[in-house]
Amino acid sequence: MRDSYLVFGQPLIEQTEIDEVVDSLKNSWLGTGPKVAEFERRVAAYKNVQHAVAVNSCTAGLHLSCLVLGLEPGDEVITTPLTFCASVNAIVHAGAVPVLADVDPATMNLDPERVREKITSKTRALLPVHFAGRPCDMDALMAIAREHDLVVIEDCAHAIETLYRGRPAGTLGDLGVLSFYSTKNVVTGEGGMILTRDAELAQRVKVTALHGMSADAWKRFSDDGYVHYDVEEVGFKYNMMDLQAAIGMHQITRVESWWQRRHAIWQRYLEAFADLPLELPAPWPDTDRHALHLFTILVDKGRAGIDRDELLMRLHRDNIGTGVHYRAIPSFKVYRERFGFRAENCPHATRIGDQTLSLPLSPKLTDQDVDDVIAAVRRALAARS
Ligand SMILES: *Cc1c(COP(=O)(O)O)cnc(C)c1O
Repeated sequence: MRDSYLVFGQPLIEQTEIDEVVDSLKNSWLGTGPKVAEFERRVAAYKNVQHAVAVNSCTAGLHLSCLVLGLEPGDEVITTPLTFCASVNAIVHAGAVPVLADVDPATMNLDPERVREKITSKTRALLPVHFAGRPCDMDALMAIAREHDLVVIEDCAHAIETLYRGRPAGTLGDLGVLSFYSTKNVVTGEGGMILTRDAELAQRVKVTALHGMSADAWKRFSDDGYVHYDVEEVGFKYNMMDLQAAIGMHQITRVESWWQRRHAIWQRYLEAFADLPLELPAPWPDTDRHALHLFTILVDKGRAGIDRDELLMRLHRDNIGTGVHYRAIPSFKVYRERFGFRAENCPHATRIGDQTLSLPLSPKLTDQDVDDVIAAVRRALAARS
């Protein structure tokens, strides 16, 4: 067994990021400024999209997205039960009502047929999540949206590198939102970014993210001199700081080499676990690109002899940290009580939520770390209960 604990989801921070943060500290420009603007330009170029607005989290970005797209109290938003609670919370923060449609058990993404069944006269939006970095069936979802006049917000927290039929995830719906939380593929500690092709939406996001102050207020962040601003609406305090962008603006330049590294780890896991009684991630079509954010295995007690929580505990005792992405949304009491969600209404997400375990997949992993994970998983499964 390895002697140090392998922390799940550790980001890889290089000297350039450290120097850039120190530069912000030395020049005393901590808040929103030129580094945020540069980070936005770099992400927009990488994503091949016209507008990218940095915010202080993906959750904030999803909340603003709901608001600028005009969702109102009582409007229904269809999303997936297999997501982080933030996707649902953002809908609720906007006053709208989350509605869950079950996932396809192979892709673990929203099943368009189940989405259709959930449409009512109150449905206004779809909020698909590209789970683990695998793109949703966007042609089918966008067709449903067109038919029923719905707006589409893509939760791209896992999907920076994702392509759907050659097109970047986050640029297919009305708005797409990235996360730069510490465990994501590109990090700023906390942070997010909203992508859109629509200049007017981008402008509204910017204003709403900074107290609702008119666009001129952003000039406070340059040396152009003081300008009066108006407050156009009651906005939020969701802007990103230069201190955060200092990290992200360099991380984004390495996104492809890190993807290659995770791809190599992914292939090693697939080969190393092929003979084990586990369900491994399903292959995806050549026309798409998976962002390889999470390598999830499904542990069925009937086959594996132990359940997910027992495997998690054994790996933990072997100094391997893992993650659970995610227990299905109806497994949380607050959503059951407030929205009447029931596990039996999303059986696929519920089973996945009970069986899934995410193995370390960070570009920071050494070959030895990967060997340790493989050995620990094999050992844990060899010692049946
Ligand atoms: C991490 C995550 C979020 C929230 O991101 P933050 O930047 O932490 O707000 C939202 N949705 C999904 C699917 C996530 O994994």
